[in-house]
Amino acid sequence: MSFYGIEEAKIREYARLVVCTGVNVQPGQEVIIRCPVEYYEFGHLLIEEAYKAGAAEVLMRWNDTFDSRQYYLYASEEALCNVPEWKAESYNYYSRRGAAYISIAGGDPEAFKGVDPKRMQMNEAAMDKALETHYKLMMASEIPWTVAAVPQKKWAAKVFPELPEAEAMKRLWELILKAVRIGDNDAVKEWEKHDTFLKSKCRMLNDYAFEKLHYKNSIGTDFTVGLAKGHIWEGGSETAGTGTVFEANMPTEEIFTMPDSRVAEGTLVSALPLSYRGNLIRNFSLTFHEGQVVDYSAQEGYETLKSLLETDEGSKRLGEVAIVPYTSPISQMKTLFYNTLFDENASCHFALGECYPTTVAGGAAMSEEELKAVGGNSSINHVDFMVGTADLCITGIREDGTETVIFENGDWV
Ligand code: ZN
Ligand code: ZN
Repeated sequence: MSFYGIEEAKIREYARLVVCTGVNVQPGQEVIIRCPVEYYEFGHLLIEEAYKAGAAEVLMRWNDTFDSRQYYLYASEEALCNVPEWKAESYNYYSRRGAAYISIAGGDPEAFKGVDPKRMQMNEAAMDKALETHYKLMMASEIPWTVAAVPQKKWAAKVFPELPEAEAMKRLWELILKAVRIGDNDAVKEWEKHDTFLKSKCRMLNDYAFEKLHYKNSIGTDFTVGLAKGHIWEGGSETAGTGTVFEANMPTEEIFTMPDSRVAEGTLVSALPLSYRGNLIRNFSLTFHEGQVVDYSAQEGYETLKSLLETDEGSKRLGEVAIVPYTSPISQMKTLFYNTLFDENASCHFALGECYPTTVAGGAAMSEEELKAVGGNSSINHVDFMVGTADLCITGIREDGTETVIFENGDWV
C-alpha cells in the first residue's frame, strides 16, 4: 500500500480512531462513508475497521473532484436544480435510521476554480432542500458524524509547493497524524485527555455567561459580537440522540457557541485565506452593522466572497463564534493548510450562515422561529473564516457592563 513511507500500522490506527472515536460505530449500526477515490487504500481501511466495530452494513460513496467539476461545468441547469428522489432518500433514509456518517476531506483546495459559483450555488440550494432531513439531524447532532482528512496529491502540492510529490504527501501525512494525536501514546487516551481540557474551557465560559465579546488586533479587527441569550459553549465530543459519544471533527481544537445574529458591530479582518467551494479568498475583511455584513473587500476571490454573502439572507450574518488559542498544536505547525478542517483549528474563527442549534439552551428542540427569537441564524451556508492572530485580544462583557479579558496575545489569559 502506498502510505509514502509512513508505517501502515499508524495509518490503520488512524482509520480505527475515525471509526471508533470519530463516529463511535455501534454494533448493528449502518455506516456511510464518503471517501476520495484517489485514496481508496484509506477508504478500504475504514470499511474494514467499521465492520470490525460491528457495523451492520458499510455504504461507501467514493467521491471524485474531477467528476464533481465536470458536473458543475457541464450538467444541465435542470439537473443541477433537481435532486432525484432516490439520491435524496439515500441520505435521508439512513439518517432517519441513525446511521453514522464519515466524511473524508483533503481534495484540491482549488478543485472548482473557474466554475461559475452561481451553478454550484444552484445545486447546493437544491441539495439542501432535498436532503433537509439529513442535514437537520446532522446539525442537531442527532446522528453521529465526523469529518477527517487524508493527504491527496493536489492538496499536498498546494501546502508544500517546494517538495516533490512523494515527499509532500509524506510530510502532510505526518502533520495530519500529529494533529489527530497519533504518535507513541495511545491515541484514544490522548483524545480523552484533550476532551477534558476543552470541556473545562467550555465550563469556564458558560459560567461567565457573557452578553458580548469584543475582538481587537493589529491587522484591523475591531469588532463586537453579541452572544445568544442562554448560549452554551461546546467543544470536543458530542452526544448523539442514541446516546453515543462522537467527535464531529478530527482534529478539533475549538470551543464554540451561538452568536446573536442580530448583534455584530465593526470590522473583522481575515487572518488566513479561505477555501470556499474550491476557490480561494485572500486578505478579506467584513464590516458588520446590526448583525449584518454591510461592507466587504477581498484582495483575491472577491466574486467568490460576494456569491457566498449573497447566497441568502442568513449568509450575511454569523452562526458560530469559535475560540482557538494561537498556541494550539496545529497553529504551531506554522503551516497554511488551505483546508478549513485544519486552518479553523489553528485560529479563532467565526462562521457565516447556519447556527448549531445545540449551542443554545433547549435549541435542539426549537422550531426555526423559536431559534430566530433567541438570535439563531438560518442559512444554507455554514462557512468558517479565520480571524485569530498572535496579538488577538478578546474581552468578555457581561450584561451589567463589567468586563473580563479572556484572551490576550492570541491565548487564554
Ligand atoms: Zn468552528
Ligand atoms: Zn463551523
